[in-house]
Amino acid sequence: MTEITIALSKGRIFEDTAPLLKAAGIEAQDDPGASRKLILSTNRGNVRLIIVRASDVPTYVQYGAADLGIAGKDVLLEHGGSGLYQPLDLNIARCRMMVAAPENFDYEFAVRQGARLRIATKYVQIAREHFARKGVHVDLIKLYGSMELAPLVGLADAIVDLVSSGNTLKANHLKAVEEIRLISSRLIVNQAALKLKRSAIQPILDAFAGAVG
Ligand code: ATP
Ligand code: MG
Repeated sequence: MTEITIALSKGRIFEDTAPLLKAAGIEAQDDPGASRKLILSTNRGNVRLIIVRASDVPTYVQYGAADLGIAGKDVLLEHGGSGLYQPLDLNIARCRMMVAAPENFDYEFAVRQGARLRIATKYVQIAREHFARKGVHVDLIKLYGSMELAPLVGLADAIVDLVSSGNTLKANHLKAVEEIRLISSRLIVNQAALKLKRSAIQPILDAFAGAVG
């Protein structure tokens, strides 16, 4: 029987992923939330799950170490999507990629003036493309987390970050000043695996598509 490996991350996406897997008839043998195992077997003898960092999911699928994966569009845009087929928007882990700045910073004015802006972000590719499209000159400063801090201590004028409720921005006296795009999680498939293992992969894709509706 054809072996299928699915790459998942534990963080925010996981909770919403389990019902979709179940709809596809796939259930982990161990509780992924509690287990420290990185490879989980499932009720289906030929399907296993691997647990990786959210931003590493596209890499495992790109190189074929996993056949399928679930990744945020943010992560996919930063990765570039090479070698990946992205057939399905799962509509989970929905949020917005935003530009945010201190409450007292006049972002529109700075942009109109043609000021050069310092932008701190984990999402360098998305930010670069956004400001290039707007014709705004920026210096991008790569961070790995806690972006909200950067404008408060003078590291940057503004940040590019994911926002859902806006509570973290508010708690740090920041406001969203521009929406870059909506973000949700996608099912991704290794392009070569889809051709070589189509009969095993297609039913999983169909079940996910049915579960998303
Ligand atoms: P790590 O926490 O391991 O550094 P990460 O921050 O990318 O990695 P998560 O915080 O679990 O991992 O985020 C996983 C995905 O969930 C993101 O890539 C994004 O698509 C989505 N996500 C992130 N923040 C939010 C949010 N506030 N609301 C909804 N979805 C979000
Ligand atoms: Mg995180």
